[in-house]
Amino acid sequence: MSLKNLLDTPLPKWEGLLVALGQPAFRARQLRNWVFHTSATDFPQMTNLPLALRERLQESFRLESLTAKMDVTSRDGKVQKVLFQLQDGKTIESVQLSYEKRVSICISTQVGCAIGCPYCATGQQGFDRQLSIAEIVEQVLYFARRLGEGKSINNVVFMGMGEPLANFANTWGAVEMLNADEGFGLGARHITISTAGLIPQIKEISQKPLQVGLAVSLHSADDTLRNELVPINRRYPLKELISACKEYKAKTGRRVTFEYVLFDGINDDVKQARQLVHLLMDLDALVNLIPANVSETPRFKAPSLDKMTAFRDELERLKVKVTLRGKRGTDIAAGCGQLRSRDMALINK
Ligand code: SAH
Ligand code: SF4
Repeated sequence: MSLKNLLDTPLPKWEGLLVALGQPAFRARQLRNWVFHTSATDFPQMTNLPLALRERLQESFRLESLTAKMDVTSRDGKVQKVLFQLQDGKTIESVQLSYEKRVSICISTQVGCAIGCPYCATGQQGFDRQLSIAEIVEQVLYFARRLGEGKSINNVVFMGMGEPLANFANTWGAVEMLNADEGFGLGARHITISTAGLIPQIKEISQKPLQVGLAVSLHSADDTLRNELVPINRRYPLKELISACKEYKAKTGRRVTFEYVLFDGINDDVKQARQLVHLLMDLDALVNLIPANVSETPRFKAPSLDKMTAFRDELERLKVKVTLRGKRGTDIAAGCGQLRSRDMALINK
């Protein structure tokens, strides 16, 4: 029988759980410390807990749902991508991006994705299932444990496989656990959720007390084209999406980042840059331009550097904050280089 993962129990319930096992409340603090701040992945390692309790916990809970199946590092050593196998044999990917002084982790929230963007490898797989809170949080803990003492994770971005806002409850449960002082303790400002633009959930985030960063995958300022590139646009068109972003900005005081992947001959014309400027008027937004990654569909490839630079320059000329970075870490398979450039922009914001 498969045991319940302790990380699927919300933190405020841990104390009650231990008290129910006849333990004093302070044991919860000890347990949390083991789970979130040490490399312990099972209960017998938790040496300051009474032996009987360790045994009891070991019988009732697990702490590991992910097994690293493949671990590849880019030639420059800065991008590490891990393929995890879940209990049911399905797989997901997470990426660690290392800079001089900072470490960012990019995590997945679903196996597959239902939105079906035509250039996205995950979208082409279709939707398989939601990840649990434990499966989301564990991706971060895996890298934290591996980094060891003295080094820590500075940023977590929900930009891996899947649409985080289509798994809202578990995404938010994971955000809370990663953020809580009693949990992983990462400041909300160091957590960013990337979305294809699910309006009701963007509105829900605006109401939350935690000010996590929001990145919207825009890729076009024109509804007809965006219907193709980000099919959820048919349900949540640009006008309403932008108005939800304005609301998010007004309620949280945080600037929204717009990701704009450049596809050769599709959305990279300077006219389209002007359209984008017009759309984002009054938003004080940051636009993160990303060269398309190699995808299986030859239709979607990155424009020449000249074209990308011209697109960026037009945004700059019209006073929109914009970043454009080259691809890196692409030698370890598509998906990572793009994450790196995206993530750098968020950090330097
Ligand atoms: N579902 C969410 C988060 C995961 S996808 C979202 O769409 O925002 C993370 C980012 O990768 C998105 O901006 C997505 O558009 C982008 N992406 C997908 N396929 C890509 C490709 N082939 N090249 C470059 N970026 C890609
Ligand atoms: Fe891929 Fe994100 Fe589109 Fe889903 S929403 S298909 S993960 S780009």
